[in-house]
This record gives sequence, C-alpha cells and structure tokens, in this order.
Amino acid sequence: MSMTHTPLQDTEGWSPRSWQGRQALQQPLYEDASELNRATDQLATLPPLVTSWEVLALKKALAEAQDGQRFVLQGGDCAESFADCTSPIISNRLKVLLQMSLVLVHGLKKPVLRVGRFAGQYAKPRSTDTETRDGVTLPSFRGDLVNSPEFTLEARRPDPQRLIQAHAHSALTMNFVRALIDGGFADLHHPEYWDLAWVEHSPLAAEYRRMVSGIGDSLRFMETLAGPITGFSRVDFFTSHEALLLHYEQALTRQVPRHQGWFNLSTHFPWIGMRTAALDGAHVEYFRGIRNPIAVKVGPSVTPDQLLPLIDALNPEEEPGRLTLIHRMGNAAISRALPPLLEAVKREGRRVLWVADPMHGNTETTSNGYKTRRFDNIRGELDQAFDIHAASGTRLGGVHLELTGEDVTECMGGARDLSEADLDRAYKSMVDPRLNYEQSLELAMLIVRKSAG
Ligand code: PEP
Ligand code: MN
Repeated sequence: MSMTHTPLQDTEGWSPRSWQGRQALQQPLYEDASELNRATDQLATLPPLVTSWEVLALKKALAEAQDGQRFVLQGGDCAESFADCTSPIISNRLKVLLQMSLVLVHGLKKPVLRVGRFAGQYAKPRSTDTETRDGVTLPSFRGDLVNSPEFTLEARRPDPQRLIQAHAHSALTMNFVRALIDGGFADLHHPEYWDLAWVEHSPLAAEYRRMVSGIGDSLRFMETLAGPITGFSRVDFFTSHEALLLHYEQALTRQVPRHQGWFNLSTHFPWIGMRTAALDGAHVEYFRGIRNPIAVKVGPSVTPDQLLPLIDALNPEEEPGRLTLIHRMGNAAISRALPPLLEAVKREGRRVLWVADPMHGNTETTSNGYKTRRFDNIRGELDQAFDIHAASGTRLGGVHLELTGEDVTECMGGARDLSEADLDRAYKSMVDPRLNYEQSLELAMLIVRKSAG
C-alpha cells in the first residue's frame, strides 16, 4: 500500500546531476577535479542517512501542519561543526528542542513536529568569496563540509575529503539522537532527564517546572485509570539542512524502486537558502526532481511575481506537504514585505506551509565587532508574523530558529537582558548568533501566548 500518488516529478531532462547545466552559486572552487570525483564516487557507495519511509512520513505530517493539525518546530545551529559532534552538545541541543516542544504541545494543544537543523548542517553561504585580514586574502570559510575556519591557506583550501567526513559526522549525530530517543530519553514520564543544569537560576524555571509537573500529574492520573500510556515514551525527530553544496547532495540522491523516484537520503527535509533560490539556478533545478518535502527561504526582496513561478517549478502538482516557505523578513520589513506574498499565494490557491524564521532578517554587527541579534527584534518579528497571517486569513504553521543548548551569549536581550558587553563572555558561534537555552524557552512561551490569542 502506498500512501502517496505516483510522482510525475521525474520530469523531462531531470537527473541527480542535471543541476550541473545551470549556474550554481555559493559552490567552492576545488583545485583538483579528480580528487573531487574520487570523493563523490566513494560517497555514492556509502549508506544513506535516512530512509524513504521516514521522508514520506514527514511529508504526510507536514501536510497535516498545512491543515493546522500540527505545529512545526525547526531549530538548531546556524552551522554545525565537526568539533561540536560530542555527546554533551548533541544531547543539550536535543534537550532544548524537547523542552520547547513540550511547552508548545501543552500550550497549543496540538502535536508538534520536531525538525532539527542538524546531522548535516555543515555548508554555509557567504556574502563574499574571499576574506582579507591585514592585507592577506584567502577563500572564505564555507562550513566544515568545505574548509576550516582558521585563517591559513591550508585551512581555507576546499578539501573534497570533507564530503566523506561530513557524511560520517552526520551519521554519528543521527545515530546518537536515534539511540537517545529510542532509549527513553524523550519519555514524557521523565522530563527531568532533559533538564539543563543552569536552569536553576533562570527566571523562567518556575513557570516551566509548574507546567512539567502538571503534565506529570495528568499522565499519572490517566495511567491510574487506563493503564500505561506507551505513546508518550517516544517522539519523532526529523533532520534538515540547507542543501547548498550540490556535489554532496547529488552523491546522496538515491533511486528508491519501492517508492518510484529519487530521494535525497542525506536528510529528511532539505531547504534552499535565500541566496540560491533563483528560478533558473542550479539549486531549484536539483530540488524539483527529488521527492523529499522541501523548503525555500523567502527574504524581503522577493516579489509575488518571483514567488509564484518558484512554487510552480517546485510543486507543479500541488502535492500536500511538499513545499514549505520560510519567511525571514526582519522585524522592520515584515509588515511591508510579507502581506503581498501571502495575498498572492492565497489568491492563486497554492498549497504551502508558512513557517517564520525571525532570526536571519535581524542580524547586525555591534560596535565591538560581534555579529548579533536583539531578542526584541526576534520576538517582534515573530509577534508580527502571527498577526499578519491572522489578518490575511493564512496560517503560520511553524517556526525556524537558530539555537543551542549551551549557555552562550550571542543574541542580546531576553530574560537576563544580555548587553553588548555580555557578548564577550561566551560567544562561540562560528557563523550566526544563536538563541541560548533560556532565550529559546522564552520564545516558545511567547508562541503559546500569541496563539492563545
Ligand atoms: C541560514 O539559515 O543559516 C541562512 C543562511 O539563512 P538564509 O538563507 O535565510 O539567509
Ligand atoms: Mn544562519
């Protein structure tokens, strides 16, 4: 029994490598093509990281989110790094996402679809191809999938072996996440497993603990009446990353005879970044042929005349769950930039899932040189996003956040009102500033308050 209809996506001229005939932005320049070919040949023989069954299950769940039956929580690092592929960093990130989803389930009274920005988020688009320091110019750091952040010629050389290493680190991450979840880490009977040490001093801790103990009481009450409720011991977790480096994605694109078609089996839910979403570009060409659910980042310069043909190209058959649009406008621009897009998509009756990314339109640089985001702007954009959707008669079906379970000081503001001077204390991100644990929970509580009306 197949849950989905036969795809017509194997459209003329498409193959996993047909993107090579289009302009591919944001790709590294490898010095030695044969070295690259050896690496991609090897990658193409290695096992995939996810299965087509999981991918199709996620697509079905995203279709339910489009219908308002689920809320999507997508979050994780801006850029994962090989060095951060460690037990505490992976489990702390999982804990924050679990705690946020608990707040959301409890407050929204609907299932939350959890999607990590992890197990493959290793490639980054950059605004310039090179970086100059003290008169020395080197290639920009493009993520651990490509090169290394140290400012030396050797570190910045794009190294094809990193494709194999990224696959291995993604597999290690996935394996640990799957084992934690299957082993009972996500069991609702034991939310204390997810507690992070420094919540003790958090002004939000009391509110969170009250909620958790309320859920525990209800669960015990129900179990007294009805016996053990097993469904609460497991949650689903899906992975996502920006499918930027197309040689990597191509090598992990596999034909699945049982499900008739090509799947990107490096992740459940790849997305196209804002800088690589041109209609005639290589990324759109690659994405149109895979059967995964996919997302596209939409920035403030996109017009309805650009967005509608993109929807046609990526979801010509209006397949439920196929296409998510992640708007990332900025707190100052969203009230101007978002309504015309919502109106146009609604007018044309196109079926998409709208998700808000309140991070990427709110990045700024402080006078002491840190890339940061103000919590007030993040909160403000999300707040407005709910209102704008309500006014347009459309639905905001999820959020996309950059966050970490570590006690970092990268975004300013929040419950502890972090200032510019605080950024010095624990700024660890290699690329964009992330919400820390407390700021993440605060945002989850805001979403609940907003949705309650
Ligand atoms: C990102 O998600 O890290 C990113 C680069 O986003 P965008 O494509 O929206 O700028
Ligand atoms: Mn980012």
